[in-house]
Order: sequence, then structure tokens, then C-alpha cells
Amino acid sequence: MVIREGRWDCGACGITGILGRVRVCPDCGAPRPDDVSFYLSEDAPATDDEEQLLEARAGADWVCEHCGAGNSNRQESCKQCGADRGTSPTLDVTDYSTGAIPRGSSRSPGGAHSRVGGVASRFQRLVVNATTDDEPAASDDSGTGQASPWLGSWPSAGGINLAVLAAIGIAAAVLGMIWLIIPRNESVTVQEKSWARAITIEAYRTVREEAWSIPAGGRYVGEHSAISHYESVLDHYETRSRQDCHQVPDGIETYSCGVRDLGNGYFEDRTCTRPTYRIQCDTEHYQEPVYRQEPVYATKYTYNIDRWVFDRKAESSGVNDTPFWATFTLAENERENGRSEEYHVRLVNKTGMEFTYSSPETEWASFQVGEPLAIKVNRLGKVLKVEQK
Ligand SMILES: [Zn+2]
Ligand SMILES: [Zn+2]
Repeated sequence: MVIREGRWDCGACGITGILGRVRVCPDCGAPRPDDVSFYLSEDAPATDDEEQLLEARAGADWVCEHCGAGNSNRQESCKQCGADRGTSPTLDVTDYSTGAIPRGSSRSPGGAHSRVGGVASRFQRLVVNATTDDEPAASDDSGTGQASPWLGSWPSAGGINLAVLAAIGIAAAVLGMIWLIIPRNESVTVQEKSWARAITIEAYRTVREEAWSIPAGGRYVGEHSAISHYESVLDHYETRSRQDCHQVPDGIETYSCGVRDLGNGYFEDRTCTRPTYRIQCDTEHYQEPVYRQEPVYATKYTYNIDRWVFDRKAESSGVNDTPFWATFTLAENERENGRSEEYHVRLVNKTGMEFTYSSPETEWASFQVGEPLAIKVNRLGKVLKVEQK
């Protein structure tokens, strides 16, 4: 088992990063308390010192219930006051999963700062590891000595960050769309008024139709057999094969899954096991039905029937101020069925740019050829609104 030495912070004086093996604060002399929080820096090396390994594997330290001094589990009496171990409490042994390993203290006054440094050095290590597979232990506190790790995260083109270019591009597209939508004002003159009107005229006539049955009023003319729809009919089976793949257990693998705080200043790497699987595929044969489409016939009838059908339009239009409906006469078997009308003005600005504005007749009638108007128009040339004259 791999053993690494942890560190702890003195709650009494605030000094940080004291080695795990030290049981008395080297700065203020306070004993390491029984609720001390050990942490393991990212780059703590594996210990190969025999004496340290013995200490680490001896078990959790105990804290003298008489004088508060920390003692190795290998000692049965307090090295400071000589009292028997008795019922003195031991430090906690704690398992941490890989993502939850404590990397620094949050209690110390300098903790926030040193944690920032820790993050920076972690990034530096990622950059180093990308180029060499070896593990050169990055130093703990050189957070400001090297270039920012963020510079490497976006590909750069000629020194300009691509992320910045992308942001500028998106902003430009949004501004362009807003520019197209925002209306602008134009001063124009009415150049021309035009109109168009139409009246739809229907006639009642005998028409010939076909259908699967004769509707009321239809007069039989003839019948024939026609395809009414298609039906799927089973034709034959074809032998096909398919791959049936599934996971099958393949063994057990060991992986690194965190550390154990041994309660004596040392941490032990934890390994866990999990089953592994492989994909096994079997070829499976099966019969697939093949269908053919067969037509189904039915009797289709031809018949005559009297209906109102479109006949013509009576249309009128003009480039002037006086719209009128076309005159028309209805034969005995004819009727009017709906009217349509549209009214346009052509507007021109000082530079000769033309706009067309369509409106209901009442608004159209209020415009005079030659009169100046203020309009709102969008960048695509569409007149949105005619403002007050
Ligand atoms: Zn201290
Ligand atoms: Zn003691």
C-alpha cells in the first residue's frame, strides 16, 4: 500500500502546512488537537522511509487525556507526562473518495489564498502532464511564477483569442438583425394612387363527376371498375440474420478510488475493485414476412349533377382617385359570389427611392397625389406606418 504524508494547520496560531508526523505546532508549541483535520496536497510523494511507514501503519494516534499531547499508537504511555494511555481518545480514521480528498484547510486565515495557489498549481500540472508522461512534482507555491493556464485553453490565431472572435461575431449578427427590424423615418411625396376591384360570378350548370356512390341530385351516366385501395397480402418469408450483442462479465479490475486518513498524519491510497465486461455478439436467424400490395377494386359511378361553379370575374382597376365596381349583367342561372378590392399608393423620397403602401379604402382616399407624408419604413423597404401629414 502506498503511504503519503499529510499536513495540518495549527488552530491556535494559524500557521499552515505543518507536516503530518509533527505533533506539536513548531510555531506556538500548541499540541495537535484530537479534532485536527489532516489534508493531502495534490503532489505529496509516496513515502519510502522505513520509520515513517512503521508510524503510518501503527494505527491512529491518541491524545493524552491528562496533558493533551499527541502520541503514536506504538506508545503505551504519554511521552510528555508519562501517564498511561488509559481511555485517551484516538484520532478518526476516515475514507475519502477520489473527488472528495481534502486538499487544504479552510480554517486557517491564509487558507483562502493558499487554496487559490493550489488550484493554479494543479492547472500547471495538467499543462506539464500534457507534454510529458513523467510526473515532475510541481512546486506548491509558485502560483504566480508561470503564465496563466487559461491561455492554453483556447486555440489562438495570430495572437487573437478565438473565443473573443466568436463573441464579436455573435454580437454583430444580433446587431444586424436589430438594424433590419428597427424602423427609420422617411419624408416622401405621394406620386401615384392605384386601385383594383373584382366581382366573382358563378353559374349554375350541369357538370360530370365520378364517385364511389351517386350523391343526392346526381343522374346516373355509367359505371366502371376502378382501384379503390391497396391491401397488404403475405407473399412469402425470407430468412434473415441479425447480431444480438450483450455484455458478459469478464473479470475483476482494480482501480484507485481515493485515500484513507490513517489518523496519524499519514494517508494511504485506497484501491477498489469492480467487475469488467466484454461485448459478446451472437448471430441469430429469423424469418421475416414479405408482403405484396394487391389492388382492391370497386364500382365507380359517373353521373351528371347541377352545381354552382366559378364562371368569371368582373374586374376594374385604375391609376387614379375614383374606384368603381365593374358593371355586369347576370344571366338567369348566374349569381355573384364575393368581391375583392385593393388600394395602393406609390411614395417616393427626395433621392428617388420608391415605396408602395397598401391600405383600406378609407385611408387610401385621404391621400392626395403630390402631398408630402412622413412614413416609418424598415430596412427591407416595407412601409410600416404612415404618420401624421
Ligand atoms: Zn501554532
Ligand atoms: Zn500526557
